[in-house]
Amino acid sequence: MPGPEPGPAAQIQPLLGPIDRPLDYAVPEEFAAISPGALVVIPLGRRKVPGVVVGRDAPTHAGRLAPIAGAIDAVPLGEDMLELASWVASYYASTPAAALRLVLPPGADGPVRVGRDGVWRVRGAPSGDTALIARTAAGGGSARRREISAALAAAGGQLPAAELCRVARTTMPTLRRMAEAGQIRLGRSRRSGLDWFGEPPPPDEPPLLTAEQDAAVGAISARLDGGGALLLHGVTGSGKTEVYLRAILAARSRGRSSLVLAPEIALTPQLLGRLRARLGTGIAVWHSGLAPAERAAEYARIRDGEVDVVLGARSAVFAPVVDLGLVIVDEEHDASYKQDSAPRYDARRVAWFRASRAGAALVYGSATPRPESWHALPRVTLAERADGAALPRVDLVDMRTQPAGPISRPLARALRTATDRGEKAIVLMNRRGFALGLLCSGCGWIAGCPRCDIGLVIHRGPERLSCHHCGHERDLPRRCPECDSSQLMRQGSGTQGAEDALRELLPSTRIVRLDASTTGGRGDITRLLAEFAEPGGAVLLGTQMVAKGHDLPDVTVAGVLAADAPLARPDFRAEERTFGLVVQLAGRAGRRGEPARVIVQAWEPGARALQLAAEHAVTDFVTAELVARDRRGFPPFGHLVRVVLSGPEDAPLAEHATAVADEARAAGIDVMGPAGLHRLRGRHRRAILARSPRAEAAREPLLEALRARRSAFTTADIRAVIDVDPQE
Ligand code: ADP
Ligand code: ZN
Ligand code: ZN
Repeated sequence: MPGPEPGPAAQIQPLLGPIDRPLDYAVPEEFAAISPGALVVIPLGRRKVPGVVVGRDAPTHAGRLAPIAGAIDAVPLGEDMLELASWVASYYASTPAAALRLVLPPGADGPVRVGRDGVWRVRGAPSGDTALIARTAAGGGSARRREISAALAAAGGQLPAAELCRVARTTMPTLRRMAEAGQIRLGRSRRSGLDWFGEPPPPDEPPLLTAEQDAAVGAISARLDGGGALLLHGVTGSGKTEVYLRAILAARSRGRSSLVLAPEIALTPQLLGRLRARLGTGIAVWHSGLAPAERAAEYARIRDGEVDVVLGARSAVFAPVVDLGLVIVDEEHDASYKQDSAPRYDARRVAWFRASRAGAALVYGSATPRPESWHALPRVTLAERADGAALPRVDLVDMRTQPAGPISRPLARALRTATDRGEKAIVLMNRRGFALGLLCSGCGWIAGCPRCDIGLVIHRGPERLSCHHCGHERDLPRRCPECDSSQLMRQGSGTQGAEDALRELLPSTRIVRLDASTTGGRGDITRLLAEFAEPGGAVLLGTQMVAKGHDLPDVTVAGVLAADAPLARPDFRAEERTFGLVVQLAGRAGRRGEPARVIVQAWEPGARALQLAAEHAVTDFVTAELVARDRRGFPPFGHLVRVVLSGPEDAPLAEHATAVADEARAAGIDVMGPAGLHRLRGRHRRAILARSPRAEAAREPLLEALRARRSAFTTADIRAVIDVDPQE
């Protein structure tokens, strides 16, 4: 039987399967109106898979084309989103399918099936339908029920019922009985990312802007008509958020939407709270913690224009915002804006692409801006704290002059004084300075990962050695496997060691630990921060997370342990990170005008990054950093592109890596390497770093050399990862 008449063609990118470029398909009469952005079903081999129409051009090959099999019941992607995906795919050397997944509704790339009605649907695609939400009511009841009500109140008075069951360790029947007794309320509503953040706060009273804030709002508003980017450099507590709020209102009054990016939404509930208090409804939140159904609901609300403000983390830069007028990247120095798996995009650069295409104003805000932004953008400065308070004093403590142990005497004293007075403290550990390893004092053997060639770290409860890279675990040996000595020593002091030292120092004080191992579950961060915020003295101990944008009252002491640990790393951003960390942490202390102290412990307190951080000397630091980068051709004076090759055998890998580097060099770009990296998950690795004033110029010769080796790589089981503008 002849197939449908071959009509005009379409270029379609399959979303499933190995095809990494669009293919030509015939468009039968019934789909003649289909245009780029549409979701369709296409035959691919024997399968039917979902795909996105990316073009309606004549086919590039003569011959009969397979026809489109059906249309998927979904709203097509806008031209702007299609263009965005295509730019991401080429700039970051990713595949079109992977880039399209970033802009498609959640779950659009699943297997498809045709319904009885002849309409194709994606199986398992979450719909943003309703969810059962628990809300605070009268409370009361048994002790157990009061506990459940308290858990709900601690979450802001509103949670998805399923989540309340999890955090309060209860069941749905119990919640239903509580609802019948009027102790809580249960109701269905359309899902939303806001379900997680409690009832909306009451409207707030806008403060009178300071002169600096007023100038900043003016500079942003001027860019709302016609676009343009700027850097908002505001010291911590200078009222950057207030500037954002006014700019969002200015965009809203022009009928345009705002996209607000922040590093980690769960860490900054205050930001959302302030948006809701000032802007009322019309806000969506978008972050990786959302369940698929919540994400689908937010996607639909945003795309359908039900909201005109989207707050989200990195991936929100792809939210289908309509009439985009303003993009804000808060804490623009934060490393989490870079995605560390493919597509390895940097949300800050994607934001720039989106804003310039949409003619939107773009604001990068930070107390510690990146040299890149400092160099490239017009700058508006908020030099004073909004409440006129002074920045806290920062003391550097030389650990070489201190008794052994993770907490120095000055920090111990400050912590005791503060918590005795019922005030709060934040203590930040640089994880790298606190890994606890196992060393043989007989022969120098170090317990290492058999698959990654790096040291294993001792974890507690029960004690195990584990690899931070691949998760490999083993028991602690009693004797050295090399020399059979029983003299095995612990090396380093360990995250846990710091916690123990704190508990010993402050036996009756609440110590809340915030790090990857305590924040695995959804809502954990919010719960831990709420616990810390409860009245009375408390210490928040954790990794980098504790330095991020929270605005917590009563913090009068901030300490950094092993502040200079990152400086030992071969990373040209190590100084920038160290500097930023200290200045940011200092900013968490002394808000609301309390006098505060910041104590920075280091082994090399003379390091430039620490000395300048202690003086809050951002301008001096960035200026010097730019001079150093210019000399070396590093960002912002050049783009870097890194290729990491990995394989089971070292010899062929080394050969290929050298050849790839040589070919790129022959093409006229500046190439460093290949350099050996430590083995990871049993695979040897080599890295090549190319540098060029233009990202494309560094990327293309590398891609070319990799493409030429595609089949050789398959044979030798070599994988290549390409990272444009790497951050590590
Ligand atoms: P940043 O984001 O720059 O660290 P915030 O926006 O959190 O600073 O502002 C710090 C504090 O100052 C907040 O409590 C905020 O409400 C307050 N604030 C901001 N602007 C003003 C103003 N113009 N007048 C009075 N208080 C202000
Ligand atoms: Zn030994
Ligand atoms: Zn490992």
